[in-house]
Amino acid sequence: MAAPSYDIITVGGGIAASSLAKAMAERGARVLVLEREKQFKDRVRGEAVVSWGVAEANDLGICTLLKEKCAHVVPYVEPGSGLRDLRATTLQQLPLLSFPHQVMQETLLAAAENAGAEVRRGVSVAQIECGAQPAVVVNGHSHERISARLVVAADGRGSAARKWTGFPLCEQSNDYYMAGVLLTNVHASTEIMHAIFNPDLGTWTGLIPQAGGQFRPTLFTPR
Ligand SMILES: Cc1cc2nc3c(=O)[nH]c(=O)nc-3n(C[C@H](O)[C@H](O)[C@H](O)COP(=O)(O)OP(=O)(O)OC[C@H]3O[C@@H](n4cnc5c(N)ncnc54)[C@H](O)[C@@H]3O)c2cc1C
Repeated sequence: MAAPSYDIITVGGGIAASSLAKAMAERGARVLVLEREKQFKDRVRGEAVVSWGVAEANDLGICTLLKEKCAHVVPYVEPGSGLRDLRATTLQQLPLLSFPHQVMQETLLAAAENAGAEVRRGVSVAQIECGAQPAVVVNGHSHERISARLVVAADGRGSAARKWTGFPLCEQSNDYYMAGVLLTNVHASTEIMHAIFNPDLGTWTGLIPQAGGQFRPTLFTPR
């Protein structure tokens, strides 16, 4: 059997894949990241990492980088019942970090590349072949096949890799819609995330401050 081309191939280049790629490349692994988007777009999605996630980001060695490039430190949450200082009231004694998701993705992918991982953008994985020597099949003119010792399916919530590889899906039904916009010139504190839950209506509204004086108001509402 021919030697695999890489130690690790990740399907996807989001926060999970690029953090793993960075960490493993720093430890000498030959890593290939395959990401289908050539440029990430602004979407409403993970933009506030709470204190326990910040502790994990610290352990992974990505927290300082995120703070330097795109993250904004938010020490307080206002849940509608009084200001909460996360640094004093969480086990980790840490604030939360907010960032524009797409800038965070670009930052971590670049960090993975700087650590020695090979990153290919605009490449869509079409299939994973399981077995003693797994491989991915890449969509393109020639349907390229690339082998690795380990293939990591990190292609997000609607993962196609999960279906190809036969992992069962265990999830609660998603009975909420979420919407958000991005605002500037908001007269609000950049140190406070407002997060108001209304149990009668089942709604959650948030105002997440970001770097550069931007704010992301969000609304969760039952379908
Ligand atoms: C509306 C919303 C709000 C959220 N808010 C928060 C929050 O405030 N805080 C928080 O911590 N989390 C939040 N989350 C969750 C957070 O966004 C996710 O947990 C996180 O983005 C998952 O990261 P990931 O790397 O696993 O997947 P993703 O970020 O989904 O990345 C997967 C990547 O794989 C690529 N890809 C997919 N298929 C292929 C393929 N076939 N070939 C190549 N590439 C492929 C995609 O282009 C994408 O870049 C929110 C999620 C949503 C939807």
